[in-house]
Amino acid sequence: MKTKIRVLIAALLVLIVACVSTPESGKQAFIMISPGEEASMGKQAFGEILQKEKESTDTRLVAITKRVGERLAVNTTMPDLEWEFKLFESDQMNAFALPGGKTAAYTGLLKVCGNEAALAAVMGHEIAHVTARHGAQRMTQQQAISVGMQMATGLAGPGREMILGALGVGVQYGIQLPFSRGNEAEADQIGLVYMARAGYDPNEAVRFWTRFSQMKQGAQPPEFLSTHPADATRIANLKRHLPKALAEYKNAKTQYGLGETFAQK
Ligand SMILES: [Zn+2]
Repeated sequence: MKTKIRVLIAALLVLIVACVSTPESGKQAFIMISPGEEASMGKQAFGEILQKEKESTDTRLVAITKRVGERLAVNTTMPDLEWEFKLFESDQMNAFALPGGKTAAYTGLLKVCGNEAALAAVMGHEIAHVTARHGAQRMTQQQAISVGMQMATGLAGPGREMILGALGVGVQYGIQLPFSRGNEAEADQIGLVYMARAGYDPNEAVRFWTRFSQMKQGAQPPEFLSTHPADATRIANLKRHLPKALAEYKNAKTQYGLGETFAQK
């Protein structure tokens, strides 16, 4: 009997230790992976993606992506991550941010963004998945931890796809693994605040998502839309959080408005 109780107490302790509040929203989440482990997985995944993707040689757009990313990063709860912002040459309308701070956008996405503020809306959303630790939550849920522990040898082995999917870069590898609706709504809400603090007009987020959702790319919706449906609920959620974001925008050090514009498709 005593042993049973001891086991129970031990189990409870594990639960308490693993139930952490996420740095951004303060929400309680069950996470059984440390920020360090999470970051090292993110870096490994990024290394793999870098080998596969072609970096853009458009110096102006590369500079814009870096600038938007850096303005967002300093306004997050994790300004000290080893942030890096790349632009990949591809028609993919997509962007991602990995735990540890490695972030990338695709030139196809920039074409539909058309301006810095819209790009900030998308990147802010992606970065919010990182600061709210959604990837780690998902890895915990999927019990990928044991697989994650084997990652010292790289992203090889049977858990590879699951890890990449959990980190939010599954689409690049043909795995559709959208974050939950709750995680998506949270990333939208946090991302909106990030873009506003960075000095970009948050009104553009609503305009961009509306514009983006109306886009048709042949029979296939853009990659980003396949995991981020910009439906009426999403737009309404963004609109609901706009007043708070606008207050942040008013207090931003510099207001860039839409920022620089660039070619739109
Ligand atoms: Zn998302």
